[in-house]
Amino acid sequence: MSTATIPFQLNADTIPPLTHADRCDKCGARALVVTTIPLTEGGTSDLMWCQHHYRQHQELLLEIACAIKDDTTILVENDRLKGEHHG
Ligand SMILES: [Zn+2]
Repeated sequence: MSTATIPFQLNADTIPPLTHADRCDKCGARALVVTTIPLTEGGTSDLMWCQHHYRQHQELLLEIACAIKDDTTILVENDRLKGEHHG
């Protein structure tokens, strides 16, 4: 009998907060998600994703990532801020 395993561990506390200097590794748009991927040779690699590309690869990332920091909720805040104060 095995203990219940969590499909992936949410270790988002170990990942520093995203800034708008962080860019999607695929397209260079602002990154909203960081995934920590274990490397075959040991250690981990952090991949940055925009919302679009994260969604595109989400299924795979949820499977292989050991930590995911998802800041897509800041989109909502940003949109609201943009409405009040554009620029
Ligand atoms: Zn992208």
